[in-house]
Amino acid sequence: MPVERTLSIIKPDAVAKNVVGQIYTRFEQAGLKVIAARMMQLSAAQAEGFYAVHRERPFFRDLVNFMISGPVMIQVLEGPDAVAKNRALMGSTDPKKAEPGTIRADFADSIDANAVHGSDGADTAAEEIRFFFSGLDLCPRA
Ligand code: ATP
Ligand code: MG
Repeated sequence: MPVERTLSIIKPDAVAKNVVGQIYTRFEQAGLKVIAARMMQLSAAQAEGFYAVHRERPFFRDLVNFMISGPVMIQVLEGPDAVAKNRALMGSTDPKKAEPGTIRADFADSIDANAVHGSDGADTAAEEIRFFFSGLDLCPRA
């Protein structure tokens, strides 16, 4: 399986619940390495830019307001099949439909406050990593 990188965000609801460490443990136990990380409180312009693909969707304003409601923890994950593996760990967008044992089933409350973001493909992963990190921030290792 090819080694890939993906962008993950632990959203304000999960940061507020103080489960950053528990979510990191899931990444690590699945063979994903954190190779860059930063905690920050997004501005509205940053959240709008990050979620620009959704700007025409009816939930866009709520999504942006939620993402700026508190600090988020942003990381680059690296490992075999990282994009799909992270999506599998996350579970379905709506936590009510998320498979038991997934991050969203265990930590999320609603489709808005759904604990984590993960890139949904190789191209979006590269774009999203560039949005938050420079090459110098990445610390890949064997
Ligand atoms: P994310 O991009 O955050 O990883 P996702 O890829 O599972 O989640 P998307 O379709 O990309 O889901 O939607 C982005 C975010 O917008 C979702 O995480 C969710 O918080 C919100 N969202 C998506 N669909 C809806 C909806 N029907 N109603 C309300 N919010 C929604
Ligand atoms: Mg998405």
